[in-house]
Amino acid sequence: MLRHSLNLAPKLFHKLVRNDIKLQRTDNYIARTSSCFHTTTINNNVTDNRLLYDQLCDIVGMDNVSKAEAVREQYGRDESHFNPVLADFVIWPLNTDHVSRISRLCYDSNVAITLFGTGTGLEGGVNALKGGVCLATNKMNQIIEVNVEDFDCTVEAGVTWRELNQYLSDTGLFFPIDPGASASLGGMSATNASGTNAVRYGTMKENVLNMEVVLPTGEVMKAAGIKARSRKSAAGFNLTELFIGSEGILGTVTQLTLRLYPIPETTYLCVCPFQDNEAAINTVVLLLQNGIPLSRIEYVDSHSIRASNQYSKGDLLVKPSLYMEIAGNQTIIDSMVELVKEIVLDNGALDFQHSNIMEERSHLWKARHDLYYACRNFDTRPNIRALITDVCVPISKLPEIILKMRQYLDKYKINGSSFGHVGDGNFHSVITYDPNDSVETGTVFMISEMIAEEAIRLGGTCTGEHGIGRGKIKFLQKEYDTVSLEVMKKIKQTIDPKKPIQSGKSFDHTIALYDINISNHFKILIILFSKFSQNILSYV
Ligand SMILES: Cc1cc2nc3c(=O)[nH]c(=O)nc-3n(C[C@H](O)[C@H](O)[C@H](O)COP(=O)(O)OP(=O)(O)OC[C@H]3O[C@@H](n4cnc5c(N)ncnc54)[C@H](O)[C@@H]3O)c2cc1C
Repeated sequence: MLRHSLNLAPKLFHKLVRNDIKLQRTDNYIARTSSCFHTTTINNNVTDNRLLYDQLCDIVGMDNVSKAEAVREQYGRDESHFNPVLADFVIWPLNTDHVSRISRLCYDSNVAITLFGTGTGLEGGVNALKGGVCLATNKMNQIIEVNVEDFDCTVEAGVTWRELNQYLSDTGLFFPIDPGASASLGGMSATNASGTNAVRYGTMKENVLNMEVVLPTGEVMKAAGIKARSRKSAAGFNLTELFIGSEGILGTVTQLTLRLYPIPETTYLCVCPFQDNEAAINTVVLLLQNGIPLSRIEYVDSHSIRASNQYSKGDLLVKPSLYMEIAGNQTIIDSMVELVKEIVLDNGALDFQHSNIMEERSHLWKARHDLYYACRNFDTRPNIRALITDVCVPISKLPEIILKMRQYLDKYKINGSSFGHVGDGNFHSVITYDPNDSVETGTVFMISEMIAEEAIRLGGTCTGEHGIGRGKIKFLQKEYDTVSLEVMKKIKQTIDPKKPIQSGKSFDHTIALYDINISNHFKILIILFSKFSQNILSYV
């Protein structure tokens, strides 16, 4: 069935869509065909547009604009399974005024804009589906101010979380959101990123106090108030949270004011292997239900441990394991470690190792952060790709869904490893496949779909932290009611009526369908076709 639909799809596309260009890659194919649904014609081929190139150079200088293919390719891809999709130009603004002028120019000239932080995203958000301009923020990397006494700082969007923490190292403060890769804070706010510390410190949503955003029209706004950096505010709408997680489709984040925290006096890392997955995951639920103040709690299945041992040259016992961190004042921590030890051993842990030595902790956390690459590289077949799932469920439903994922992988004989920030109910499976094998590819995407639907059914979400991007559009439509989706579309329509920014991503994918002035019969045909095309899109 899957093989059948995969083979049939391109033929149908050819019949239905007016497109006389012989397309090389499926990604470009879908990008171009979907653009015919949009009311505004975005300029799809501007590489030779000398005028636009000159105008971009006038804003940022020639050294900060590139049309070289290798550069466009590097900036047209992220760490996801999607093929790169290239913009016609890559441009590096150096400040907010540059971003504003670029946005205004593109808006007035109907040129598409795609935003690029550091390209570590896992949902194809940086693919330039309509060509145009890739606006990269990595040269906007100034730390503007640090207010040690208020525990906050203001940075430009291109600063990475690792750079910020390095800068803060002698202040006794740190920023806790730590996605596995060295991501930019602008990209992290766009995806509402989190990481191993979220169980104690929350996600980006809880840690951004204010942000400067350039709207697609070039106007500049401060989301929480002109100078605001207070912890609380009851003034006006919460525009900051509107932009966090919006994946750039409402505008470009140029600056962020962030919460900082004191580095805890002592931190213990505890590692506990279990005989089986069920015992490990049930222990997580028990620890949380007992109110143990863990700052990190990560689950790693035995497949991941095997891959990690090989990739990071470790010698961990190949059993489902929990990595936990307990941090705070020395006297409280000592008794807490004892309590955790008692609970995990009572619940079937095979061992309990703990350490507060910085080097040992750093080594183990580095191996944990590298797990995505470890699991991807463990499948040694040539040209292998990895799809990473990202569901999040209420804590009590975790054992059920993690075990379900293992059942799916075993039943369909697919390579996959699971690990994740289980303290938040969020876990990932890295599933590897050969993209030239349509049955295997189809099966992998089917499993990803089944697990997303399962998460939604259990009261969770299809994405705990990676975002919707290109890969989860249809899940978003299952997760929200139609009224909520309409509200999102209306907000986008108000802020960005021409839709040049991040077109074709997240809920924006179907917006234009409802705008087209054509008969209802034809609309239904297009919607059916769009649903079909989304299926194909997610199989690419
Ligand atoms: C090994 C590995 C581990 C990871 N672990 C985690 C994890 O633990 N938790 C987690 O949350 N994520 C994780 N990720 C995913 C990724 O790091 C995050 O999604 C991160 O937030 C992306 O930031 P970036 O700067 O690389 O953004 P990009 O990939 O460059 O962009 C991501 C999205 O944000 C948009 N964007 C970028 N900059 C801006 C801006 N200034 N304004 C508006 N929109 C913008 C882009 O257009 C795109 O849609 C991991 C990725 C890898 C490869």
